[in-house]
Formats: sequence, structure tokens, C-alpha cells
Amino acid sequence: MGKGFFISKAVGIVAIILCAGAVAVIIALSVVYSQEKAKNNNQVSPTDAGSTSNPPVTPSPSNEPWDKYRLPKSLVPDHYNVTLWPRLTVDVTTGLYIFTGDSSVEFECAEETDLILIHSNKLNYTKLENGHLAMLTSVNSGVKAPSIEFSWLQNVTQYLVLQLDGKLSKDHRYHLVTQFTGELADDLGGFYRSEYMEDGIKKVVATTQMQPTDARKAFPCFDEPAMKAIFYITLIHDNGTVALSNGEVKDSSNFSIEGHYVQKTIFEPTEKMSTYLLAFIVSDFAFINNTIDGVLIRIFARKPAIAAGQGEYALNKTGPILKFFEKYYNTSYPLPKSDQIALPDFNAGAMENWGLITYRETALLYDEAYSSNSNKQRIATIIAHELAHMWFGNLVTLRWWNDLWLNEGFASYVEYLGAHEAEPDWNVKDLIVLSDVHRVFAVDALASSHPLSSREEDIQKPAQISELFDAISYSKGASVLRMLSDFLTEEVFTMGLRTYLGEFAFGNAVYTDLLNHLQMAVIANGTDLPDSVPNIMSTWILQMGFPVVTINTTTGVVSQQHFLLDPDSEVTAVSPFNYEWIVPIKWMKTGIIQEPQWLTNKSATNDKMKLSGADWVLANLDVVGYYRVNYDTDNWNRLVDNLRTDHKLIPVINRAQLVDDAFNLARAKIISTVLALEITQYLNEERDYMPWESALSNLDFFYLMFDRSEVYGPMQDYLRKQVTPLFEYYKNMTLNWSKVPDGHMDQYNQVNAISLACKTDLEECQNLAKAWFNQWMNTNENQIHPNLRSTVYCNAIAAGGAKEWEFAWSQFNNATIAIEADKLRSALACTKQPWLLNRYLEYTLDPDMIRKQDATSTIVYIANNVAGQSLAWDFVRARWSYIFTEYGGGSFSFSNLINGVTKRFSTDFELQQLKQFKADNSVVGFGSGTLAVDQSIERTISNMKWITENKENVLNWFDTALPLGLYYPPRPLGLYYPPRPLGLYYPPRPLGLYYPPRPLGLYYPPRPLGLYYPPRPLGLYYPPRPLGLYYPPRPLGLYHPPRPLGLYHPPRPLGLYYPPSLFPAWFECPVVLMVR
Ligand SMILES: [Zn+2]
Repeated sequence: MGKGFFISKAVGIVAIILCAGAVAVIIALSVVYSQEKAKNNNQVSPTDAGSTSNPPVTPSPSNEPWDKYRLPKSLVPDHYNVTLWPRLTVDVTTGLYIFTGDSSVEFECAEETDLILIHSNKLNYTKLENGHLAMLTSVNSGVKAPSIEFSWLQNVTQYLVLQLDGKLSKDHRYHLVTQFTGELADDLGGFYRSEYMEDGIKKVVATTQMQPTDARKAFPCFDEPAMKAIFYITLIHDNGTVALSNGEVKDSSNFSIEGHYVQKTIFEPTEKMSTYLLAFIVSDFAFINNTIDGVLIRIFARKPAIAAGQGEYALNKTGPILKFFEKYYNTSYPLPKSDQIALPDFNAGAMENWGLITYRETALLYDEAYSSNSNKQRIATIIAHELAHMWFGNLVTLRWWNDLWLNEGFASYVEYLGAHEAEPDWNVKDLIVLSDVHRVFAVDALASSHPLSSREEDIQKPAQISELFDAISYSKGASVLRMLSDFLTEEVFTMGLRTYLGEFAFGNAVYTDLLNHLQMAVIANGTDLPDSVPNIMSTWILQMGFPVVTINTTTGVVSQQHFLLDPDSEVTAVSPFNYEWIVPIKWMKTGIIQEPQWLTNKSATNDKMKLSGADWVLANLDVVGYYRVNYDTDNWNRLVDNLRTDHKLIPVINRAQLVDDAFNLARAKIISTVLALEITQYLNEERDYMPWESALSNLDFFYLMFDRSEVYGPMQDYLRKQVTPLFEYYKNMTLNWSKVPDGHMDQYNQVNAISLACKTDLEECQNLAKAWFNQWMNTNENQIHPNLRSTVYCNAIAAGGAKEWEFAWSQFNNATIAIEADKLRSALACTKQPWLLNRYLEYTLDPDMIRKQDATSTIVYIANNVAGQSLAWDFVRARWSYIFTEYGGGSFSFSNLINGVTKRFSTDFELQQLKQFKADNSVVGFGSGTLAVDQSIERTISNMKWITENKENVLNWFDTALPLGLYYPPRPLGLYYPPRPLGLYYPPRPLGLYYPPRPLGLYYPPRPLGLYYPPRPLGLYYPPRPLGLYYPPRPLGLYHPPRPLGLYHPPRPLGLYYPPSLFPAWFECPVVLMVR
């Protein structure tokens, strides 16, 4: 599955402006894999639900096979025939969107058994003619199938259970038939529906997300990755809609069923494949296509998106990337077609369904007018990631989910190779250091981390499987494989990879199978290694964490120790290698690359690393090794001097490394925080993206810890001074912001320059952002370059009030491309107005305002804003049980949510709140966020300690980092308004809740304190009436119309009267007079 956690550079930048999110966190927060396993109890209209007879009563805890989460090995599926009919309009009898289905599976009995267990979740079965939920027949007419004695649904373990009256015979084949109904819910898992508006009309798409355990929500199946089978899929759908599945269309015909005139699309049988890679989609999408060497490539999306050309970039890049991987794997693409489709509602970034890859719209659709270079990079890398899975993952599949890290880590590594092929000018391969290596270092340096590999028996329940889709699997997996490929050389690495794919094609493997094939390649190639590939890699795969390698250039001693961000944290997990690693060391001396070394013990002496004079050592060149590096103080000082005098002597990736290593070593109390800050002194000379990005993500921690303290002011002054030359550099390069820098990395760093300059209150920057945004508001024509939009929107909204916010909100609602909507959605969290932030928080739980897939990331955006932090935390605490029930229990985004809203916690008060939160919700639970709650507690404690130990030093350092001059005196800890420019102001009002300032205009004068009717919504009303006596308002009913002004008889008391005359009163009057 695609790493949804990759978010655009531009969105990441917003985080920086928000004075908050470490980029790493922001990256993590944006929607990774997060299936919403809706816990709603919506029962689909049962055609006939439940059991056909009571299941045998079993004592608890039960040891019955149906109470275990893993399938027994007795039955092996061969092929399925599945027909599904999703209804894209509400079912009148149930009021729900539903689908109906028929399924049959032919399986072979591998061990005699009188029990059939097949996965099934939230499906309601029709009772068949035998009175049971399924029919069983024998394939071979010579053998009679036993009869079904009991059939029932085991909801907790998600099985359809069939107890037979006799045994199935070994090596015989049987046929199991079912009929069922399911809900086509909007829960983003299994067979689900996605909705969107087109020309004012609501459209519904039926689509799927099976990984990891939701195929069983679409039809009964042996839903484990090793239970590969062939699938014959048929979809029934309305005329005019398009049906897609893994295979090509074999036949399509129209017919009438239950009074509906519908289309039946039969697909070619699939290859032998796992259930989690199936996909069924019915939509009225359009597509564009081309053919590369006989493979049909199509891009599907909403009709207006295709018409606007938003699929072209993906179409153009898919062919070259596919060709690259064919060459890389030395295996041709296994299928005749490659469909890719952009869905309005999709929880992960993308999903590698074999032959029909599904994406979030932002991960596939590109529009030059709206998309930044970061959006473009994301599209290229996600396409590469998913295409890489077509072989690695789909053709050869890991046997069980405990090896997920190999599947995802591999794709997360080679996605950079594929993207490089598509965009060779970008240097995109370098960026793995920032996006994966540095990102996962932050998580893997905690005592609560876990090894890449889990034991098969520890991963049983769907929630445990879901929890594996984390940064360790993706980013550590990618980092470790990159290191492996580097020390083997790419030639040897691909040699082993190719024989591995050859041996296990259409089958399943475990991770050691790959290592064994790589070892065979090492032997064939005569590569010199200190130990075998499996032995070297075991130290990286079977124990959590990574080492810090310390090089003492005075003695030549090189040593390693387990790197822990908090040195006081206690590691309770026992490691088979005692937290030692076999470490490849690439290094240079005084700018000259040296022979690579290995560290195979706790420590060793290497005379070549002993220095004299002005020489210096730099290790882990290009950060290909998965470890940090520390040096003796003299060598550190020489490196810092080098950075200041001629930073280009050190390779650019290593400049980023020096910054990141120094800040993290300081966090771990291995070097002083002051030394890390010293390194940032050279940044006023630095123009390259990677070191700046590395510095900004590390300084984000300083912002998180200090943006509510007196350190904030001096830190802002220092960073403003450091970033000003960069701001000027890009101002000149772009001819006063009128053109786009040529280089990909320059485009990124231009965004950094503007973001940090604006964030540190550089007035020229803020005026620039406000002017651009105002021009858009005034002319309704957006001339802000897509690269700069996120940062400009955020700064303008932060500086503005309700007017700017409402304008951005309406633009968000009218955005026709999700990429633009995403930029606005994150920028809306930048406002400093608490009431706007609170209202925005409420919107996140209303799917009509914020799509479910975006809810958690929006809450975290708000928490990243210093003004929104406590609001978001209060909101999550107050709504936890609702959020948990509505937004699924097994979802990865819960850990992002919890980590995101507690990131800034650094006081005892916050720690107590967090512990209370854990206690209060112990019954409701935290699902896949369980670990995150403990991690947050651990992080809060370590933040508290860090602040106590560092605040004074840091404040002193920032204070003296700037030359002597006139400054405001430091203020005590507290919440402050940002400084305002010089001007005439009203005297300050006491602390309290106020309406937001309104623009100049005519208003009613303020009214004295009192009870008033609430303001009414916009509409036509009678004008307000003057003070007087009035009839009370009457309830709705039939009345005589109000009479015109005039003299009338007073209303008469209750009594008997003649009916009203046809003549008016004055007409009758004269008659009376005459009689008299
Ligand atoms: Zn993946």
C-alpha cells in the first residue's frame, strides 16, 4: 500500500509556519494507511441473517478453531466465482446503500476435517434450499460431500462456520456456494462507497480497499495472503457506468433483473493471487490510455478531472516507470493491463491492487495550474511505489503479515529509483535521507520502538495487522534495504532479487528467502563481506533501534552503542544481539573518500581514523548507513569550522546529516545542545535545500518546546537573521518573485526561505504574503504560484481574521482539484482566532464539511498551531469515544492523531492530563493508537526533562548569538499576542473572550449587557416594531388575513350569533334607522 504519510512539501511547510509540527511528525500525521473499520452496528437488511441453528456452546476461553484468528491449514482454495451487484442508489426497504452477491469457491481438502471456516465480515446470508447459510457439493461426482449440520457466523473472529456431519476427504475438491447482502457503507474498507458532487449532482462510486483483512467484507473468502487463488469476477451495474476489476473485460451484456435494466460485465480470470489485492469498482469515470509494449495503461478519474487533463502526467510517467521495473526485476510485467484510478474518498495514499491500482486524487492527478513541484514528486514516487509492488508483493507475496515490512520497505526504497527514472533531473534519490531515514530515526530511537520483523504468532487480529503499517515498516524497511543494496552493490542486489522473484513467482515467501537469494548472489559474485547476508541483516531486522557510531580521532577507537533519544529510558525488550550491529562505514578524511570499513564488534581500533593537524573525519557518507555518527570534540570543532569557512567541502547530504545528528545527539545528551546550535551558525551561507530542511525540522522541536516561553523572542531574532540572506537570494534568483527557480531542490528551498522568513516576522515577507492573498481576494484571480500557495495561504490566514478565513473556506469548498483543496485545508488551521479554530474542529467530524479520510489530519494541523494546540487536545479528549466509534478501531491514523495533538506536551500538568485521558478511556480503548498513548506519555516526560536541563543554556545562547543592541526585555512564560507593527491602538482590554475585530463599516451600536434573542439567520423579516402592546405571536394555522387600518367593532365575547351577512355593516345601518 502506498504510504499515505508522504505529504506534500508544501503542506509540510505549513507545519513550519504553524510554529509547530516537526516536519517528521507532519509527514507522519497525514493519513497513512488507515482503514476505517467502522464499528457501526448498522445491520444490513438481513435476507436471512444469523445462524441456521445454534452453534455448539463452548466454554470460554475457548480453544475451538472458530475462536482462533488464523485459518486452519486443512483447506486450500483453488478458484472463486464471484458476482457482485452494488447499488448506487439507496435501497428503499433498508434506507441503506447495499450490494448483493453470489459466490462459489472450489477448494481442496489438504487434511481431513469436518469443519469449514471461511472468512466473512458484516455479510448477511440468504438461507439456501438446504436450510443453511451455504451449500456444499463435491467436485468429483464419485465422492459425496458430507451434509452441513450447523452453519453460523462467528463475528469476533470474522468467520462463516460450517459444521459437517462427516469428514471431507483428503485431496478431494469441493464447491461451496453462498448468497449474501452487504452494506455499501462510506467506511473506506472492503466494498464501500465514495461520493462526490458533479455539476450539482451527487455521484456515487462503489469501490474497494481490501488490504489487509477486508476482502471478507465483500464476499466469503479464505482471507489470508498465502491462500492464493484464481478469481472469476462478474460485476452487475447500471447502464452507462463503468465496471473495473483486476482482469480485463471478457464480456459485457445488458439484461433485466428484478425490474432493473442493467449491464453485466464479466472479467478475465485473474492470475493466482491473494485476496487482499482484489479490486472491484463501478463508477461513471472517464479515462485516458496508451499502450506500451502490448500493456494497456489507463488512468481513470472523475470526468471533469480527465477533461481538464489532470491524468496526463500520470499516464506519461507510468510507461517509463513500468519499463524501468521490468528491467530492474528482469521480469516482464505480469499482466496485460495496468489501470490506475483516482478516488474522491480513499484512506491510504494508494493501494497496489493487481492491475487496478487505487489512489487518493492528490496522489495521481496533476494540474500545472494547481500542483506544486512537491505534489508532482509525490505523484511520481507513489506511482513508482505501487508499480514496484506489481512484482514485489503481488507476484511474490509474503506468507503472512508479520513480514509486511519487507513488502512495504522494499517498495518504499525502490520508489525512489522508479521516480528517478521518470524525473532524472530532480536528484530525488537523495531525498530518501530526509523523508525516510531521518524521519524514522525519530521513532526508532525510542525505547518503545519495535524490530522490523515480528513473530508470526504475535500478529493475529486485524487490529494487530493494521498496526504494522507504520513508519518502521515503511521507512526503516526502506532505509535498511538501501544500506544493503549499497554494500552489496546494486548489481549483486538485483541479481539476488531476480532469482528470488523467479523462484517464488505466483507463490509466497518469508523475508529470509530474499536474504538467502542475496547470499547466493554474493557467493556467485565473490563479494567480500565480514559475514553472511542473513547474519549481517539479522542485526538490523531482529532488534529494534540503531546504533550511534562514535569515532575518536585522537585514539582511533571506533565504537557503537544503542542510540536512545532519551538516555534515561529503560529498554525492556531483550535483543538476541545485545543491541550491537554489524555496521558498514563509508567515510572520508579531509574531503578525500577512503576505503570502506566494517564495525563488527562493540568497539575496534582503526589507525586510519587517528588524526593529526587540521585533518578531519566524516563518516556515513551520503547517509547510506542506518546509524548516527558521533566524534570526539576536536573533530566536531573541526567539522563546525569547515562548515563556517568552506561548507562545500562536505557533501550536501552530509551537511544535512551533521545538522540532524548533532541535534539528536544533543537530545540524547551525548553532545551539548550548544554544539548543535553552533552548527546552525553557518546557515547564513547555506543555499542548498537538504541542510536547510534538516535544520528546520530540528528547530521545529525548539519551536514546540519554546513557543510558549521567553526563549521564543530571542530564537525568532536569531533565525530571522539567519534566513534573511536566503530570502534575498531567492528574491534575486526569481527577479523579485516573478519567476520560478529552475531546479527542483531550489524550488523546495525557496518555499523554506519564505516560510521561515514569514514565521520569524520578517516584515517584507509578511507583506508579500498578505499582498498576494489580498490580490486573490479582491480580483478572484489566484496568481500565487502553486509551489508557494501553502505557505502564502497559511501566513495570510494567520495574519488575517474572519474575512480571510471565510474566503479560504469558500475556496476550499469550490476547489475542483483535491490538491488545491488540501493546501487550503491545512492553511485554514493557521488562523490565530480561537473561535475560528474551534468551529473548524467541529467541522472535522461532519463528513459533509471535511471528508472522513481527512478528519484526523485536519485535527492535527490545528494542534500544530500554537493557538490551536489546547483546543485540539480538549476536543479529542471530549470526543474520543465518538471519534473512536465513528472513525474505526484498527486505523493507523489514530496513532497520528494522538501523537499529533500531544507533540508539544512538556509540562507536568499536561502529563497528568494525558494519564487521565488514558485512564478515562480504558474501556473504549485506543485501537491502533494504543502504542501512541504510551509513546506520548514517554515523550512528554522526556520533553519535561529536556526543558529543565536545556532552557537556560538555550536562552543564553540565542541571547548572545546576536550582537549587542536594543531589544525588548525577556518576558515571563505565558501566552502572548504576536508583536504588532508601530501604530495607534486602543488601550489594551483585560483578558477575556471577544468577538473578532470587524472591518470598518456601519454597525449597530454595542448594546448593554442583557438577555437577547439569538441572532437569526439571513432572511426576510418584518422591520423591528416600536415599543408597545402587541398580540402574542400565534402558532402556524389558518387565519383571516390581517385587516387594513380602520375602525372596527371590538371583538365580541363568546356566544351565539347570526352568521355574517353578505352586506357590509354600514349597508344594514340605514335600514335600522328607517324602522325607528
Ligand atoms: Zn506499499
